[in-house]
Amino acid sequence: MVTDKFKRPMRDLRISVTDRCSFRCGYCMPREVYDDHEYLERSSILSYGEIRRITRLATDLGVRKVRLTGGEPLLRTNVHRLVEMISDLDEVEDLAMTTNALLLAREAERLKEAGLDRVTVSLDALNDQLFRKMIDTDVPVATVLDAIDVASEVGLEPIKINTVVRRGWNEGEIIPLLERFRGTGHTVRFIEFMDVGTLNSWNLDEVVPSAELVEMIAKRWDIEPAESNYRGEVASRYRFTDGGGEVGFISSVSAPFCGDCTRLRLSAEGKIYTCLFGSDGTDLLTPLRSDASDEEIRDLMEQTWTKRDDRYSELRGGTPLASPKVEMSYIGG
Ligand code: SAM
Ligand code: SF4
Ligand code: SF4
Repeated sequence: MVTDKFKRPMRDLRISVTDRCSFRCGYCMPREVYDDHEYLERSSILSYGEIRRITRLATDLGVRKVRLTGGEPLLRTNVHRLVEMISDLDEVEDLAMTTNALLLAREAERLKEAGLDRVTVSLDALNDQLFRKMIDTDVPVATVLDAIDVASEVGLEPIKINTVVRRGWNEGEIIPLLERFRGTGHTVRFIEFMDVGTLNSWNLDEVVPSAELVEMIAKRWDIEPAESNYRGEVASRYRFTDGGGEVGFISSVSAPFCGDCTRLRLSAEGKIYTCLFGSDGTDLLTPLRSDASDEEIRDLMEQTWTKRDDRYSELRGGTPLASPKVEMSYIGG
């Protein structure tokens, strides 16, 4: 198994299958920037065969968990075929997808049949007006809620619900979201607004530290910390003592978890990144398309990982570090 400079193994691969999205969440793809954005050219986007090959080579280096993301992964045509091709790899023990769920109700069944294990659905508010404001798109929240039900019916479980919390926007949605999902088996995870990329006007004042949310939730329900499930788990979890399930917190700003970060990221154009806040990746597309052998590509991946010394969130404190950073929709959340 390959490890980096801090002895972290490569366990997870996050694959961005497209840099396009149907929503315009202000913290990720602000409309004023992305309505006039140059997206990747079709010809420079990895084919499903190329993605499968990179995934297979990543499993040789230790990867066991794979997540399809983006952009919005369900915008990629017939993405269930890619699911089929990856779930076919014996070493992949867990295959998940993060989605905004706009197309999930329609796709859920064939994704499950193709071998997808589970989905994470992004949902920042239950209030319809606020939901539309958060995604800056004319889609009713009911579409996402219905899709969660369909995903659950076909067995894409356990489902996680990702909620990015932004001060002044959706703190009022924390309790309603938990009221809705407690006891359903789905786990809501509150994510601190992160300074990914440079286009989302990130500001520390808009970050609500998870500790504040824990306090808010503890006033309403009795909760206790839960043990971490595995090394590299990014969410800290609390259990409702009445058996209502769990709630998670992803505290990249207030309590960074770089020490346990075991994730490699693959962009839609075939670059691998060893950190969400990276500025440049290692190009695999060129070697892939110039007949490089498996060994050569695997070596390139291994060298990239063994050189890795990323710990951006631990170094950041409250001030984004002055380096060019790739955007979330490009690198995959
Ligand atoms: N489009 C899909 C979705 O939204 O589920 C997948 C890609 S999206 C980039 C993956 C996750 O990143 C989402 O749950 C989203 O809420 C989160 N995200 C995006 N920008 C973020 C930011 N600035 N801070 C924290 N989380 C962010
Ligand atoms: Fe799209 Fe997901 Fe980014 Fe929202 S968070 S703009 S749904 S990629
Ligand atoms: Fe991993 Fe980079 Fe995030 Fe740290 S800042 S947890 S190294 S992705």
